[in-house]
Amino acid sequence: MTVIGIDLGTTNSCMAAVQGSQPEIIPNAEGERTTPSVEAFTKDGERLVGTVALRQAAMNPGRTVTSVKRHMGSAWSTTVDGQSFSAPQLSAMLLRKLRTDAERFLGQAVSDAVITVPAYFTDAQRQATKDAGAIAGLNVLRIINEPTAAALAYGLDHGQAQKVMVYDLGGGTFDVSIIEIGEDVIEVLATAGDNHLGGDDFDERLAQHLADGFKRESGIDVTRDAQALQRVREAARQAKCELSSLDSTTVNLPFLAAGADGPAHLEATVTRADFDRLTRDLVERTTGPVQQALGDAGIAASELGSVLLVGGSTRIPAVADHVRSLTGKQPSSSINPDECVAQGAAIQGATLEGARTGLVPRGGGLLLLDVVPMSFAIETVGGIATRVIERNTTLPIHYEQVFTTAAPFQTKVEVHVLQGERPMAADNKTIGKFQLKGIKRAPAGVPQILVSFDIDANGILNVSAKDLGTGNQQSITITDSERMSDDEIAAAKADAERYAADDAARRDAIEKANEAQAVVNEANELVRQRGKELDKQLRRDIKAATTEANRYLLKKPAKVTNDDRAKLAEATARLKELLARA
Ligand code: AMP
Repeated sequence: MTVIGIDLGTTNSCMAAVQGSQPEIIPNAEGERTTPSVEAFTKDGERLVGTVALRQAAMNPGRTVTSVKRHMGSAWSTTVDGQSFSAPQLSAMLLRKLRTDAERFLGQAVSDAVITVPAYFTDAQRQATKDAGAIAGLNVLRIINEPTAAALAYGLDHGQAQKVMVYDLGGGTFDVSIIEIGEDVIEVLATAGDNHLGGDDFDERLAQHLADGFKRESGIDVTRDAQALQRVREAARQAKCELSSLDSTTVNLPFLAAGADGPAHLEATVTRADFDRLTRDLVERTTGPVQQALGDAGIAASELGSVLLVGGSTRIPAVADHVRSLTGKQPSSSINPDECVAQGAAIQGATLEGARTGLVPRGGGLLLLDVVPMSFAIETVGGIATRVIERNTTLPIHYEQVFTTAAPFQTKVEVHVLQGERPMAADNKTIGKFQLKGIKRAPAGVPQILVSFDIDANGILNVSAKDLGTGNQQSITITDSERMSDDEIAAAKADAERYAADDAARRDAIEKANEAQAVVNEANELVRQRGKELDKQLRRDIKAATTEANRYLLKKPAKVTNDDRAKLAEATARLKELLARA
């Protein structure tokens, strides 16, 4: 069984699998090496994913969802036709497509996957990613950090021990990690980043610049027209990519809007210097996290062996220049920056599979050590966040601490688990709460409550509490409103599977209709060319069967019933039979 590695990106996703001994990118059904992370719903109830969804985004902005990854692990949802969709459900639509496309490409069933997440993702975000995989019917063997995956893709061949900076500027997130590549261990020493910085922001700057210029010339504000704005955004993204290799480019959007004097067209020239000026502060926003990661790892930039560029946005020349000036090193980008994360995930997948089958692939056997991206704390008296696990501690972790009661004769305590760096509980993120009940009545400070934290290799946390006074381990409930329950996952999975079945039925109906149309065309052509030679009755029968088939073919797709489909199949079969006799 092949394990697929999936880079589940904000803007684009990518998948790979180790074939032979090399990680190979798996193209999607459209033949593309990366798939836009876009989901859409048509008015006919069809679900679209990837390029087809992106292509119709301008015409259907209200029913198109982009950048779902930004909402992972939050309570966010969106409602389409009265049905509400959470971020894991939408991500699962994408994962299901990737899985189906991989199965088609590899010619075998695929169920196991390694999925990557930004190093900065919290426990809830990692869990939401796992949930998305489960909804898509995938067995997620491991969640790994994107920079770790990139280091794997780079580090697999050469065993030279060194410290490496991975600078990852994607579509929606920025991560920087300091990684130590040892003989057979890759350890993430420190991570920092910005969950809300990426290529989308660069697109937005250029789009705003184009919209401002258009307004000056035509007096029309396109930001008020969702469809026109979507065209401007798309053109800005394209111009941005062109400016990575050209000094100047032109943007042409004919008939962008209707003005008082007729249609107005957008025509503008943008130079790389203009683009750099518009986005300079975005590039500079990456400085802080770079310095923080170096500081946390306790090293100077001069100690870095290499600097890896990851993410499509590192193709922007000003970004690469900035990294060079920050680190004093020429960054390497010998592996395609859009693909190396998926390749690393595939390598990790093959390693895990190898561990199970006893076959270890080339570069395999690497033990991945990730770190906690944010500190864990629990709330103590006075709303203080008491740190129990420091940021950048290496995973997996087992940690215990004894706590006690604050009030006399307290029979229960609430354990409030937090993640973040702030000193007061209220300023950090709540990731779980539970109560330990049945504590023996005693003065304040006497009961001893052992709280244990376990973080597994995926960065997923389990907290438990034990009353040492009674020896009782209370059953505890972690209530995390942002985490999906098993029932919710099962329901979402059933929903996704039902849709997959509907999709298959829809595809089948389309294929049958296409086949019927081809037979009708053939019949029309026959009657046109040789109608006079044909037996009169046969000609009449052919015409009747053609008319019958057309009755169903001309119906609107949304109005076609199962009965219609059966009748169309009959008419097609009859027509085929008549054509064979002609
Ligand atoms: P990723 O999430 O790594 O796939 O990165 C996607 C981001 O990279 C998107 O914002 C793309 O617009 C951007 N991108 C892709 N190719 C280029 C390029 N040639 N120049 C600038 N940005 C690019």
